[in-house]
Amino acid sequence: MASAGRAGVGTNQEDVRRHNLGTALGHVHRAGRISRAELTTRMGLNRSTIAGLVAELESLGLADQAKPSGTRVGAGRPSVDVKVRPGAYVLAVDLRVDGLTVARVGLGGVVQARATGPVPANHDPHAISESVVELMKLVVKDVESRAVLVGVGVSVPGVIRSEDGLVRLAPNLGWRDVPFARIVADRIGTVAMPVLGNDADLGALAEHVRGAGVGVEDLIYLSGEVGVGAGIIVAGRKLDGAGGYAGEIGHLPFVPNGKLCHCGARGCWETEIGAPAIALAIGCPSERIGALGEFLEGVHEATPGLRTVGTHLGRGLAGAVNLLNPRVIVLGGYLRSLYPLVRDDVENALAIHALTAPREQVLVTLPGLGGDSVLQGAAELAFEPLLADPVGRLAATACQDVETSLIAG
Ligand SMILES: [Zn+2]
Repeated sequence: MASAGRAGVGTNQEDVRRHNLGTALGHVHRAGRISRAELTTRMGLNRSTIAGLVAELESLGLADQAKPSGTRVGAGRPSVDVKVRPGAYVLAVDLRVDGLTVARVGLGGVVQARATGPVPANHDPHAISESVVELMKLVVKDVESRAVLVGVGVSVPGVIRSEDGLVRLAPNLGWRDVPFARIVADRIGTVAMPVLGNDADLGALAEHVRGAGVGVEDLIYLSGEVGVGAGIIVAGRKLDGAGGYAGEIGHLPFVPNGKLCHCGARGCWETEIGAPAIALAIGCPSERIGALGEFLEGVHEATPGLRTVGTHLGRGLAGAVNLLNPRVIVLGGYLRSLYPLVRDDVENALAIHALTAPREQVLVTLPGLGGDSVLQGAAELAFEPLLADPVGRLAATACQDVETSLIAG
């Protein structure tokens, strides 16, 4: 998860300074705007060190100092505010089975431009990469000439090998061992190697950093799309498992000899609560599944079929509550539109199947970032190298001209 750390330990003074610079930038990035006094408190460094770090962030074009907006504390001079500058940006890609969103996102999680498009029906990785690049061109079209691209983050609804962005399995795209990071990198030329993340993991990351899970150390983000996955944070850290593949909660065995799942097994949880199950319950034709959110908005009272989906949702959540004792469960994707309709059924199933002690501690809620959790998570992932070492990352990205590279490609 995001390193909300205090001043760290490096091997020498220069390492310490660069690490502290990244930590300071991380605080400004997560807050958007923060007083220098607060930054001093959070980092546990003295005021002159903080002033030096802020001045360096300014000279790197990453932050600005501004007149204080907050209330005065004590009798001293009010502390100066530090706020993000929009110059450094990332490209965030939210690839879903039924749609594609690309955004240019600045520090502070500010969406500067966005474009959406369909996903090629055959789900061919090269064709999807083409569509991604077309949308990237749209969002960088009017970017300031001095702005710097510092990373590309891509969310994929599948199991990702994080070292090299190999998609081990994306059952609902029909992908197995697809080197999607490499395919996109080949297409966008000089631009930084894209980093890939699992959609639910990225939803959890973003909700933890700036959504419904700020300050929450035990959180589950449930991504309810065509497939269902969970991003799980335990004691403030992402739950990875041995190979980084943890969280595939949609494939929890749920109904003996149930419906065939895209993963090859029968009766997985997602066959009962995923988009196709919701669509079936409200009579949304399968070819219109990309518009399921709009269909759900037109539903004002839950049908018996929809209430059954709600019960299945609650029963599965009870398993997660019993296993992980989360403080917050965030329902993303189509579950965002479903939950208000079937809240009682979800609660009833939780009451029956979840143990009292962990159930009393859990809040089931909608995303703080609306429909943007996963997109914002992809942006967070892309910002990580900059936040780890601002000087190093800016040096590495200094000689690229993104727009030219994208358009020439
Ligand atoms: Zn399955």
